[in-house]
Amino acid sequence: MSLSLTVHRGTQQIGGSCIEIEAEGERLILDAGRPLEAPRDATDLLPDTLNRERPATVLISHPHMDHWGLIGELPPHWKIMTGEKSAELMRLTEGLFGGAIDREIKCWNSRSGPFDIGPFRITPFLTDHSAFDAYMLFIEAVGSSLLYTGDFRTHGRKASLVEGTIERLTGKVDLLLMEGTNLGSDKPVITERELEDRFVDLARTTKGQVYVQWSAQNIDRTVTLYRAAIRSARKLVIDAYAADVLNRVAEGTRIMRPGARFDRLRVLILPSGKRLFHRGGRSDAIDAMARQPEAISRRLLKKIPSIVMLRDSMLRDFENAGISFTSDDAYAFSNWRGYLDPDDENTAWAKADAAGANTLHLHTSGHASASELCRFAEAIAPKWLVPVHGIKWDDPEINLPPVQRLQGWRDVDLRWGLKNLARDCRAVLTGA
Ligand SMILES: [Zn+2]
Ligand SMILES: [Zn+2]
Repeated sequence: MSLSLTVHRGTQQIGGSCIEIEAEGERLILDAGRPLEAPRDATDLLPDTLNRERPATVLISHPHMDHWGLIGELPPHWKIMTGEKSAELMRLTEGLFGGAIDREIKCWNSRSGPFDIGPFRITPFLTDHSAFDAYMLFIEAVGSSLLYTGDFRTHGRKASLVEGTIERLTGKVDLLLMEGTNLGSDKPVITERELEDRFVDLARTTKGQVYVQWSAQNIDRTVTLYRAAIRSARKLVIDAYAADVLNRVAEGTRIMRPGARFDRLRVLILPSGKRLFHRGGRSDAIDAMARQPEAISRRLLKKIPSIVMLRDSMLRDFENAGISFTSDDAYAFSNWRGYLDPDDENTAWAKADAAGANTLHLHTSGHASASELCRFAEAIAPKWLVPVHGIKWDDPEINLPPVQRLQGWRDVDLRWGLKNLARDCRAVLTGA
């Protein structure tokens, strides 16, 4: 009896992950991610090596497009599963682009423990990542075990979840499929709490408004900014889309959401936000949101000292209401630096800079630092480590734990048996 592993995509790239494991003729596919570099209108992106005739169950680790963005291309007879809130966020994102996920997504409940699919026993471990409802997946079958980390970090607001996973799984994992996004990078990795302190300093020393660009689906960051708003005696102003995200994930949880309990949160109703809801056929929802006590207009915003969400797509709405940057304001870009084009004159960054506002990059990564990846792998102490979701595995600049590095995984079109490394575990690695 053997368990076989095929990494269809992800051995030498970040994003677009697609991994298959097979036992007793049954197949699980871990993630069906859209490659980050694929143009928006590109189709037919599933890896060629993926057999689409035979049945399979697809497990989506978390609601980032580079892990689920190809589910529309999956054969209709395949089952899809993910976390409950993850499914909600996937539907919401698809709606943003005017589409809809028109197939069933089954959800696991990580609190109710493991579940079985054919010979596989799957235990989802909720983890710390910039996406909400992200999981590591521990999979046992035919006497072997595998831990797929998905994307994770150890410096967010849910870091203790990772420590809990280490405690439960140390010494129990044969094969660790680990992400390596931050290998070989010098990205600043501070904790969300330290980031909160920096936002507090910024807000306290800024006379005007503090504008921030961040991802509405990065709920850790929204919480960080809400806490910074409390500590600097400001309001946190988010747009209707961000409010929608909070409302959807907060259902049945203690997560913050617009309403009386979170009295420093304000929802800015903008024409661009209204259009988004109209396009999605949800005009009633935006009308109801605009009637809530926390809803504010652009006119009112000018009078409230705030930390204000500002995406580039909202700039025109601000300008049309006579709101422009001044030298008293600050503008913080709180996303990965690669998303900022310093030469584009139409970005909020460029406009804030031209107005003499204080522009700065205040961010921390959604992924574990290189040294933390090492610590995690060492603590789990697997028999083998299979690298995915990274480009610097060849020269990681850290000492990986004494696990067997796979040779040849870099070669495109290579299929390489692992029989000599594992008694029960055969891996077929297909470089993508
Ligand atoms: Zn990813
Ligand atoms: Zn991710």
